[in-house]
This record gives sequence, C-alpha cells and structure tokens, in this order.
Amino acid sequence: METVQCRSVADVVDAIKRGGRVVPRGGGHCFVDRPADVVLDLSGLKSIDVRSDGVATIGAGALLGEVYRELHAAGRALPAGCGTTVGIAGLTLGGGIGLVGRKYGLTCDRLIGARVVLADGSVVECDDEREPDLFWALRGAGGGQFGVVTEFRFDTVAEPMLTRIAADWPADEPETVIAAWQAWAPDAPDDLTLNLTIDGPRAVLIGASLLTAEPTRALLAEFADLIGTPVPFELRAGVPLSTVKASFAEATREEPPRIRSEFFEQSLSDDVLHELVGTGRLAFTAMGGAYNRIAAAATAFAHRNQRFLLETANDRSWSLAHADGSGRVYPNFPNLSLADGPAAYHGENLARLRAVKQAYDPERFFAFPQAV
Ligand SMILES: Cc1cc2nc3c(=O)[nH]c(=O)nc-3n(C[C@H](O)[C@H](O)[C@H](O)COP(=O)(O)OP(=O)(O)OC[C@H]3O[C@@H](n4cnc5c(N)ncnc54)[C@H](O)[C@@H]3O)c2cc1C
Repeated sequence: METVQCRSVADVVDAIKRGGRVVPRGGGHCFVDRPADVVLDLSGLKSIDVRSDGVATIGAGALLGEVYRELHAAGRALPAGCGTTVGIAGLTLGGGIGLVGRKYGLTCDRLIGARVVLADGSVVECDDEREPDLFWALRGAGGGQFGVVTEFRFDTVAEPMLTRIAADWPADEPETVIAAWQAWAPDAPDDLTLNLTIDGPRAVLIGASLLTAEPTRALLAEFADLIGTPVPFELRAGVPLSTVKASFAEATREEPPRIRSEFFEQSLSDDVLHELVGTGRLAFTAMGGAYNRIAAAATAFAHRNQRFLLETANDRSWSLAHADGSGRVYPNFPNLSLADGPAAYHGENLARLRAVKQAYDPERFFAFPQAV
C-alpha cells in the first residue's frame, strides 16, 4: 500500500488518475480498516479561512482542534465533536454529533458547499445549486464514497459562551440513573446537552449549556429529582465553546474504542436495562433538538427521529440493547459485523444514495465493504 501526500487539488487529481483502489484520509480515525492500494493523505490541505460574514473555507486535512482554534480567533464556531485530532472531513461527511448540536444541528447541517475530485479526475464545486445531488450525498452518508473532498465551506455560528457541565460519582443504582437520563436528556431544552457514561461503578456526565449557571443548575435539578439522589455537578460558566471542547477532549482521550453502537427511537425497557447494566461500559449521547427538526430526506443523514445513541463495549451488551434499538447506526461509527450495514446507516435514504453513486461513480472506483 502506497501513501501519497497531497498538498493541492492537482496532487489529488494526479493520484486518482493513476488508478488503483484509492482511500482518502483526513484525520485517520475511521473505526474500520478500508482496504486500499493508495491512501491519499490530505493532511497537507489544512488551510482555514474565515470571511467577515462567517463563511469558513476549510481544507480537508484540518483537524477539529485546529478548526476550533482558528474559528475562535475569528469569534466563530461550528457544532462538531470533541476529539481534537478527529478530521473535519470524516466527521462532516458522516454527520458530526457534538455538545451544541441539539442547538445548531449536525456539522454537516452547517455545510454550504464543497470542492470534490470525482472518480474520473474531474473537479467539481457542489452546493444547493451546483451538483445538488452530490451535495446532498456529502451531508451525512459517510466518507470515501462519492469523491475526494478537498475543501469544505461552512456557515459558522458566532462562538457561544457555554456553561461547562461535568459530574463523576459512584452510582449505587446505575439503572435508576440511566432511566432518569433517557427520560430527560433527549427532551431537554435545545440549549442544554447532557451525555451519560456508566463505567463499572461510576456514572459520568459531560455536557454543555448555552444558558448561564443558574438556569443551567435549575434544569439539571429536574434531572437529579428524577434520580432521587443529589448529583455532584460541577458547573463552569462563561467558557468559550472551543475551550469546553478542548477540556473534554483531554478527559476522553483514553476512551476505549467504540465497539458497537445503535440509535434508539424509544427508551430502553426496564427488563433490557436490568440485563444490560453490568455488561460493560455504556455511553449515551442525547439526540433530539435541532438534529431532529430537519427532514430525514433533506440531507443524506437519515437518523432524524432518534432519541439517543448508545455505544456498547462488547457484542453481548450490544445484542441485549438491540432488542429495543431502532436498527439505525451512525455512519461515523461503522461496524463490519452488521447484518445489513447500508440499510442500518442510511435507512430510507439508501435508494437515493445508490442513484447518486451510479451517477458519480458508476465504475465503483471508490468502494469498500458496506459502501452504498
Ligand atoms: C477520539 C475520537 C472522538 C470522536 N468523537 C466524535 C464526536 O464527538 N462526534 C462524532 O460525531 N464523531 C466522533 N468520532 C467519530 C468520528 O466522527 C469518525 O471516526 C470520523 O470518521 C473520523 O474522521 P477522520 O477524518 O478523522 O477519519 P478518516 O479515517 O480520515 O476518514 C473517515 C472516512 O472518511 C473518508 N474520508 C476522509 N477524508 C475524506 C475526504 N476528504 N473526502 C472523502 N472522503 C474522506 C475516509 O476514507 C474514511 O472512509 C470520534 C472518533 C474518535 C477516534
């Protein structure tokens, strides 16, 4: 396998024209190995330019830490994930879930255009007017399927000041904590996101609120009331989004690999919850809010009616939870053991995605197991 360092669009075009199975690499964090003859290392395409109207043009090799830092310098931000070394490319192409997404949507919901090198080596600009089907497919179907994006254009938001939320305590009754979380966090006001991890005897909450400390505390008290015991919340108000992200990236750096995950349209039943607790680490991410106000067909990201995402640490806990799951899987958390990956990743958008694939890559130059 050869790795080609790309520093320009022309380098990408040259590499594609040479043929072989080409796999682009942004941050390099894909959860599965995608077989390749040639890896296109895009880390040389890192430029980040922010216009006065807030439109940011970001090279496909930029990492989230770099994106947050440069946008912060311009007073702007994007809703995106926490890991500082995650690539903006892979994250955006698969969706992009983060701590202010319930307010501002997925990262791909802020995408307004992209430059793409297609399988035949041609270079196209796409947006709502130009190559609209390709632009639709780039927003949430997962990377590496339709072409190599060299540049993304985003409509950024003014960087919000957040109240950072954290809690870490020995939970004697993890079932009660999960039951309270799943009843409350997916319906919380858009301004507040609270994610839960149960890891052995500990319950860990991380979150962010666009409200100041007092209203945030009042909302969190509703959640603690459902549990019935106090939760030792630590709140830090007036923190820029970029700082909150960096602080949680530090805290989650040692995360074990996500082994299996699924979306849930409804809460886990009491019986499933009872069996699930004690089977390994469980990480719950709240959906709802702005994520779900966009129609499933409006972008390629099909999972617009889900309450939460659950990451499980092993096959046993995944199959227990799956009894209540929606069968939908986040394209950015691929898993090769899914019985029907494309249906799980794309739901009702699969047929249109296959038509886009046929139009833009009929020879399946960009191909890997579970591609559309
Ligand atoms: C520590 C950590 C934290 C994470 N946190 C979050 C989170 O908070 N929220 C969230 O939503 N996800 C999160 N993820 C998952 C993350 O979104 C995916 O792993 C994502 O695919 C990584 O993108 P990448 O560019 O780093 O990886 P890559 O492996 O470089 O790319 C992923 C896929 O996209 C393709 N691709 C890459 N660049 C391009 C391009 N320019 N054009 C076309 N295709 C391309 C690749 O071929 C590959 O198939 C996290 C992952 C890790 C490891």
